[in-house]
Amino acid sequence: MREFDGKVVSAEGNKVILDQTAFYPRGGGLVSDTGVLGGVQVREVIKENGEVCHLVDDSSGFRVGEVVHGSIDWDRRYRVMKMHTTAHIMCAIVNKETGALITGNQISPDESRIDFNLEQFDREKIADYTKAANEVVARGVEVKSYFMNREEALKVPGLVKLANALPPSVDVLRIVQIGDVDTQADGGVHVGNTREIGEIVVNKAENKGKNNRRLYFSLRQP
Ligand SMILES: [Zn+2]
Repeated sequence: MREFDGKVVSAEGNKVILDQTAFYPRGGGLVSDTGVLGGVQVREVIKENGEVCHLVDDSSGFRVGEVVHGSIDWDRRYRVMKMHTTAHIMCAIVNKETGALITGNQISPDESRIDFNLEQFDREKIADYTKAANEVVARGVEVKSYFMNREEALKVPGLVKLANALPPSVDVLRIVQIGDVDTQADGGVHVGNTREIGEIVVNKAENKGKNNRRLYFSLRQP
């Protein structure tokens, strides 16, 4: 969804809260959406006390109860969707080959990075992982999302990567499945088919401490 209407619930200082929104708030290693709300530029979107806050320069033009139109900067969002889906694929491949887990990630429209708890990361192996990831892209694997209840999801090994971080109040989980490549509980934004990604280019790998290897990547569009 690129455009939507929402009713203003609160407008104070630089924060606008709506009854519903299509803006993705910063979280899970992903940058937030930006865009326009009621004719005003949305700089960033954050989640605060369970509410999605649209950060604007000045909210004084918004009136509680009025319906405003929102539109997401789709070019930026689509690039984040591609980047984030790429992160899933790279993580799944590195995990399969080395057993390494992901300790952090930062997904941005132009360049993204993933941290792995790995001791070794040689150039040749990185080239192999990238090739395997680009094979998944070229294969045109469908990306699906669906919902599962908490108990059911926790029974599937590896599905919930951060079981301890899962608040007890969460009864229903969103599952994202990239064909036979990767399945996990996830609230982020993804493309519908891996072919949309284009081509994955790994820019560099860095040592970030004894057991931490950081991979930087970007995407080349056809
Ligand atoms: Zn995801």
